[in-house]
Amino acid sequence: PESKLPALGTTIFTQMSALAQAHQAINLSQGFPDFDGPRFLQERLAYHVAQGANQYAPMTGVAPLREAIADKTAALYGYRPDADTEVTVTAGATEALYAAITALVRPGDEVVCFDPSYDSYAPAIQLAGGVLKRQALQPPHFRVDWAHFATLLSDKTRLVILNTPHNPSATVWQQADFAALWQAIAARNIFVLSDEVYEHICFAPEGHASVLSHPQLRERAIAVSSFGKTYHMTGWKVGYCIAPAALSAEVRKVHQYLTFSVNTPAQLALADMLREQPEHYRELPAFYRARRDRFVQALAASRFEILPCEGTYFLLADYSAISDLDDVSFCRWLTTEIGVAAIPLSVFFADPFPHKLIRLCFAKQEATLDAAAARLVSL
Ligand code: PMP
Ligand code: GLN
Repeated sequence: PESKLPALGTTIFTQMSALAQAHQAINLSQGFPDFDGPRFLQERLAYHVAQGANQYAPMTGVAPLREAIADKTAALYGYRPDADTEVTVTAGATEALYAAITALVRPGDEVVCFDPSYDSYAPAIQLAGGVLKRQALQPPHFRVDWAHFATLLSDKTRLVILNTPHNPSATVWQQADFAALWQAIAARNIFVLSDEVYEHICFAPEGHASVLSHPQLRERAIAVSSFGKTYHMTGWKVGYCIAPAALSAEVRKVHQYLTFSVNTPAQLALADMLREQPEHYRELPAFYRARRDRFVQALAASRFEILPCEGTYFLLADYSAISDLDDVSFCRWLTTEIGVAAIPLSVFFADPFPHKLIRLCFAKQEATLDAAAARLVSL
């Protein structure tokens, strides 16, 4: 059949993890921990399964989880979404992003995003018939040029997609960025999709700035998060989105026929976890900061230049001093010959990206990071 997405191949994450496995390389490519999530959470899952919570959950998510999410949001971002009408549990952040884009973007609508951008946005926009307008951010700070941003807006602009803390650049937005975004779109009829899956992995002194903390923006925003990152359980695939009731209603129309509902016992276990162990997400920045610092320190002896990392569990490394290869070839070589798998940065850009940057995931045990660093230092 004629493909609706002719240019689309297998994601770089699947490709690099497969290559890592084939060559028994240390896999710092696809973002997932090589350690397990909290035992309490696993026990609560087993408990709810044993209790017989094994049938369909309500379409919008189980009430205890939606309420726990509303409470957490109020505590962290100073705004309490209505658990019934404004919080929707989804099959990972991926589903929330897809449902939001599908619900909002009409054929011919323009969507603005910032490159490097996470790979699931563009295909969803394309399938909805939308047109992407991209601003390419530049290393090492990857800050938005707000004057340029204004030139990307038109009467056709329907949606802006942002991601903070940002995968793959490891930068974070500040309140000033949200203020600038509001100033640019206030007079226009534009919605905001804010991908905040790394909200609890933020090292900036002022903490994570959420779109939900901005009183005007949140009236137009869909904020997306994921428990996979927070609880070291990327395979559970439970996420959620928060949006005003009218917007949530539109997202739910898509969610209803995309998945209808999400794994029941996992939702109940996550509700218990949020309620009973809030210290877990509060301690997460320190947990990951220690890993980041250990890895950065070990790499100080290498010829890689390490870029600043303000959030996420990814680190960017410049290999200009080591090789002339393009980043895709370098990552393949690094995996097959040196035994460390990484992600090339150019795959997150629509236009050619001339820099020599790779992304390394440090959500790994100390022994894994030390072993990887030893190989990288040898270059
Ligand atoms: N957005 C970003 C920026 C991500 O890094 C990821 C996970 N890699 C997702 C969305 C998807 O999250 P989930 O696994 O919960 O679907
Ligand atoms: N978000 C993960 C990453 O950036 C990958 C998720 C996936 O494999 N689709 O590495």
